[in-house]
Amino acid sequence: MPIYEYRCQDCQTRFEKLLLRSADAAELACPNCGRKRLTQELSVFAAHSAASRPAASACPSAAACPNAGVCGMN
Ligand SMILES: [Zn+2]
Repeated sequence: MPIYEYRCQDCQTRFEKLLLRSADAAELACPNCGRKRLTQELSVFAAHSAASRPAASACPSAAACPNAGVCGMN
């Protein structure tokens, strides 16, 4: 999910925006002051989701899983 975090250079308001199309970025404006001087920052939400995803979720076969009872798939 392409969620981006932006910070307004004028009023320092930070907000997140889900971009379905790359063209949407050009239309972005600060929700507080309405200006378009925005700095794109790393999406904390996206980074956190990727990091917290359990590695065992990719367990291909529950029967042969070497971590039986650990990954929760068997
Ligand atoms: Zn602003």
